[in-house]
This record gives sequence, C-alpha cells and structure tokens, in this order.
Amino acid sequence: MAKGVIVVGSFNVDHVWSVATLPRPGETLAGEYRSGPGGKGFNQAVAAARSGAAVRFACALGDDAGGQLARGLAAADGIELHALDSSAPTGTAGIYVDREGRNSIVIGPGANAMLSAAHVRGLGSCLAEAGVVLAQLESPAEAIREAFALARDHGAVTLLNPAPADAEVPPELWALTDLATPNETEFCTQLQRLRVAADPATVAGLADAELHALCRRLLPHGTVVVTLGAAGCFVSHAPGSLRGDRAACYRQPAPRVDAIDTIGAGDAFNGALAAALALAPGASFAGHAARAVHYAALSTERRGAAAAMPRAHELTGRFG
Ligand code: ADP
Repeated sequence: MAKGVIVVGSFNVDHVWSVATLPRPGETLAGEYRSGPGGKGFNQAVAAARSGAAVRFACALGDDAGGQLARGLAAADGIELHALDSSAPTGTAGIYVDREGRNSIVIGPGANAMLSAAHVRGLGSCLAEAGVVLAQLESPAEAIREAFALARDHGAVTLLNPAPADAEVPPELWALTDLATPNETEFCTQLQRLRVAADPATVAGLADAELHALCRRLLPHGTVVVTLGAAGCFVSHAPGSLRGDRAACYRQPAPRVDAIDTIGAGDAFNGALAAALALAPGASFAGHAARAVHYAALSTERRGAAAAMPRAHELTGRFG
C-alpha cells in the first residue's frame, strides 16, 4: 500500500489588501480587501492531498473562526488534522500587495508558535504509515526536529522547505534533513549563514558544477532542489542520496504557462514533490522533480494559494 505524507506546519488566515502603492509610515490608504486560508504548512498539505497522497497535517489552531475555517477546509480536501488546540488565536497574516505585485507582509504567528515536540510525538503510530515528513520554518524548530527524528526512526524521507528565508535552521535540523527545497533567495540566505558567499541574482546563471558545489555545502549528505521560478529547478544529489540515478545534478525546466499569480508556487512545488515521493518511493527522482515543476507551473495560472492548487487529473489533462 502507498505511504502517505505528514506535513508539520502553519495555518494562517490571510488578510490581503490590494493597494496602488505600499503604505508609508503615518499614511492611511484605501484598498480592495479579501481574506482566505494560508500558511505554508496548510498550502503544502493541500497541494500534496490534491496530488493524490494521503495527508496528515500536524498544526496548532486557536478556538476561533480561523480554527473552524482550517478544520472545514482540511475536511473538504480529505486532510486528516492532528491539531493542537491552543488558547492563542489562530495564526494570521496581513498582506499589502501593490500594482507592481510587490508586497509587505506582517505575520501574527499566534497558535502556530505553540506547536510543540510533545504534540508531534502524539502522531505515534501514524508515522509508520508516512513515506515523507514535510516541514517549513513557520513552526517552532523543536517541533520540526522531533518530527524529523521520528521520521528517521520509521524510515520516512525528511523534506525541509527552508522558508521563509529569514528563519534560521539549527544545525541539528540540517543533520536530520534528507531533502531541502529552497528558492534562490532562501538558498543564498542559508549559505550566507554558513559563511558561503552566494547571490540570489546570479544563482540561476551559474554553471551546473558551481551550483552543485554550493548545494553540497548546504546539505553535504542529502539532496538539494533549488527552485528557480519560471526556469524550473536544479537538482543536486549527494552520492547515494534518494534515487540520484540519472546524474549527480541536472536541471528540470518549467513548461511555458500564462502565470498570473506566483504566490504559493513554492508551496505547490513542495506538496507535489512530497506526494510523488510518497506514492512512488522506488521511482527515479528526476520524474518526481519533473512532476513537481509542472504542478507548480500550473498553479501559477490561478489566483490564490491553497485554493489555486491543481488536482492530479488537471496535470495529466494539461501536460499529458
Ligand atoms: P517560491 O514561490 O518559493 O519563490 P519559485 O518562484 O522558485 O518558488 O517557484 C517554484 C516553482 O513554481 C518553480 O520551480 C516552477 O515550477 C513554478 N513556477 C514559478 N513561477 C513560474 C513561472 N513564471 N512559470 C512557470 N513556472 C513557474
């Protein structure tokens, strides 16, 4: 029987204002308002579920309307919640987006900051059914560390999406990571923390051998996939890491699409990659990377994050 995906991460209610220009200190502006579900953890859980995997989402929710929203949406996508009931409010994000698509974001972590190692331990026997444990950095590092340590005990692949870029990754968490999926900014920020010079503006243009060497610095014993926006992704395997049977490193180009909203593209990529690995663990990694790139590309043709995640059959319909 195919194994599933456990996502350890955040749920936020996103409050989004579309404005002509981002507000300056002391300025009051009128903007068009909308709200909806968000949080990297939840977006990735929805992407994995719609990619066909059985998904369990370990998170922390408040006893409020946001918590009820999360429960209802998870049920609608067949996601099993393993939610810590927190006395803190459900996480929120206030987002201003200007005409150029630039944004300013304030996160209120709320309940997300309460996710604990003890709560993750409560996943218990569910870990035996997981092929992949996927986490991002919007949750406390102790909770992720515990999830990855348990995943290792049960033989599941640990997938770390080191986002957002300003969050630190403790060395012991890198040591428990089999597969990391930074975008160009996150890749360079994490390398700079290791005192390795890297510039996000030039990453995609580096020769494969140079990029491979940088990936090896970031995660010497694992696989690194650097996502490159419209250019797809770059895959770098350590010897023996996952199924690096095609080559030690290679690029997977993205298909040409009519991208109208790239917010959540990285989340689409991570959810789809986790699902592909869990559903076909023995298959070549290059195939999984291709699937994730196509899935994320398709997600950019719709507005929204979780709501824009395609379903597996749409991918086949569009790209064959
Ligand atoms: P993030 O959203 O984390 O910044 P990226 O911008 O690297 O991540 O995008 C993640 C993935 O989404 C890419 O690897 C690619 O598959 C897809 N993608 C993003 N932007 C585009 C685009 N303009 N055209 C096609 N695919 C895209």
